[in-house]
Amino acid sequence: MARIVQKYGGTSVGDVERIKKVALRIKAIRDQGNELVVVVSARAGVTNELLARAKSLAANPSDRELDMLLAVGEQETIALTAIALQGVGVDAVSYTGAQAGIFTDKVHTKAKIKTINAQPIEKDLKAGRVVIVAGFQGINEEGHITTLGRGGSDLTAIALAAAVQADKCEIYTDVDGVYTADPRVVPDARKLPEISYDEMLELASSGSKVMQSRSVEFAEKYGVVFEVRSSFNYNPGTIVKQEVAYMEKVVVRGVAVDKDQAKIIVSNILDKPGSAASVFRALADANIIVDMIVQNVGRNGIANLTFTVPQVDTGKAQKALEPVLDAVGGGHVAVHEHIAKLSVVGVGMKTHSGVAATLFQALADANINIELITTSEIKISVVIDEDRADEAARVAHAAFKLNEL
Ligand code: ADP
Ligand code: ASP
Ligand code: MG
Repeated sequence: MARIVQKYGGTSVGDVERIKKVALRIKAIRDQGNELVVVVSARAGVTNELLARAKSLAANPSDRELDMLLAVGEQETIALTAIALQGVGVDAVSYTGAQAGIFTDKVHTKAKIKTINAQPIEKDLKAGRVVIVAGFQGINEEGHITTLGRGGSDLTAIALAAAVQADKCEIYTDVDGVYTADPRVVPDARKLPEISYDEMLELASSGSKVMQSRSVEFAEKYGVVFEVRSSFNYNPGTIVKQEVAYMEKVVVRGVAVDKDQAKIIVSNILDKPGSAASVFRALADANIIVDMIVQNVGRNGIANLTFTVPQVDTGKAQKALEPVLDAVGGGHVAVHEHIAKLSVVGVGMKTHSGVAATLFQALADANINIELITTSEIKISVVIDEDRADEAARVAHAAFKLNEL
């Protein structure tokens, strides 16, 4: 007997027929005598639909009300999954995030999990019930519903796996595992049998939406080994785990594209100590995550700051910058949404040279212009025109021979 946490994503529970199939998969595992905690997402598309409805009523809906609304999607699927299980003779109970004891901080729409009180779940498991938990949501200390950021059901599953000390954590999705690139964009991408937390984290935070990046961070911190696999077949998936020495033999593990970033240029600000600090303090106070940053060489005491932020936060960023512009010399804010970030990731970069040169040459050969560059120990990212992003991913994938390894 094992204790297993499974998570089924939006496509896997996309309609009643699929929910029935998921219920049968769960029943088969349950019938082998295992204990099961199952996290489900909203039906594919529902979270976006709800968001669009909110935006049709107000340009900037409050984050508290958005959380109240977006949490609805998962509440439908937990109940339907529990009902489907009951329909095939399995004792099951559904829980919202709050009922499952998932306590978060107060940051609506991207709350962090603070603690999980797993007692109610433990009680149900002991009574032989399958526990179905709503992904993506929690409750803060004031009793308000919070959500964990887009794709947050992954985090719910991994955090629950840590909290109930699961023997196994399985993330079921609509592809067979983690590939060397998004298989929908790069047709000859390969499924990886395994990947390190750090590589998965860099890919996820660079736009590979197969896993939510915060969930990978959590998994690494608490040592939760998990498998990403398909709910539509029984093929083995990808194991995500701590780096082991032989992983460094591969220089580039994968390629990611993020089309949900925007570039902001704050121009004509005073080139003096404190200017950058006030700009980024204002963004940090508005809970906006800044990724790439470039400051150009100041001329005549005037400088420009260029950086990228999530596209959804551009309105918030402009609003946050308004009050500090005067203090940094007036400045001018321009937003460019038509960009994409291309990243290549691999732990092998720590010990191999030439990765940047190969990437830049491949893009140059395809006549794709690079606007910004950043590197970390295991990643190189470039900002390019959004229209060329998919092509750039295929070009980079081929340049590092990722289809062949
Ligand atoms: P779920 O609803 O199950 O959480 P998501 O849509 O969030 O599923 O994530 C799965 C999708 O991630 C796949 O359909 C695939 O198009 C995309 N994806 C992006 N990069 C990768 C990658 N490197 N490997 C596998 N899938 C990827
Ligand atoms: N339903 C949420 C979303 O679409 C959470 C998830 O699917 O993981 O972002
Ligand atoms: Mg997802």
